[in-house]
Amino acid sequence: MLELDEVVKRYSSASEDVRAVDGVSLRVEGGEMVSLQGPSGSGKTTLLLLAACALRADAGSVRYQGRDLGSLSEQQAAQYRLGEVGLIGQGTHLMARVPAVENAATKLLLGGVALPEARRRAGEWLERVGLSGRTLHTPEELSGGERQRVAIARALVGAPKLILADEPTGNLDSQRSQEIIALLGALAREQGAAVLLVTHDGEATAAADRRLLIRDGRLEDDASARGDAVEGARGA
Ligand code: ADP
Ligand code: MG
Repeated sequence: MLELDEVVKRYSSASEDVRAVDGVSLRVEGGEMVSLQGPSGSGKTTLLLLAACALRADAGSVRYQGRDLGSLSEQQAAQYRLGEVGLIGQGTHLMARVPAVENAATKLLLGGVALPEARRRAGEWLERVGLSGRTLHTPEELSGGERQRVAIARALVGAPKLILADEPTGNLDSQRSQEIIALLGALAREQGAAVLLVTHDGEATAAADRRLLIRDGRLEDDASARGDAVEGARGA
């Protein structure tokens, strides 16, 4: 589903040149949830934004269902983000003074779905993230954790095939975190979504089908995640 091959992304300024992603190759298939862990500044967010085609690779390729995202026009990239991707970003960026249900319905409204239908479908996702009693609250009337869950619902509305989640449980208590991770896992298993989950949460990592580690823009081998640590030790 998602395939990165030797991807490099640099941020350049007059004073420095940061290789935020430095030769990363990975695949995430439909039906699997892959976790991505790494220290702050290691390139996790950049990697997700590349997969969302919100950033373009400087070298290497990012492919979705075989299609090179680097070849998309800006309009095609916007279409890709709207139609295929559920991006749960690090910030919630909700629209101020707009009810939760309409915030959650953003993608549907942008896609031309009529307001009553968009509200109904967004309401179902708010229910799935435990916010059925808060649909008419505006962001100002919600807690940080509730706002985060509105943003999660907004990303998941429309059942995207590729779910990119950037520390989605950062603001949530452990009970809520587990529910959200269980929901993401269920979307992979039941709807065949490919889920790439950036997290520091040990329980979230444990729920993943595979675990990736990133440091200084490079993926590191996580032998335990491949289940061949013992094999490797034996061979040594
Ligand atoms: P993480 O999500 O793992 O904390 P990021 O992908 O946000 O890491 O950042 C990776 C590196 O790229 C860091 O060194 C960060 O300072 C740098 N970086 C991220 N975004 C920008 C940007 N827009 N301009 C310049 N440097 C950036
Ligand atoms: Mg980040």
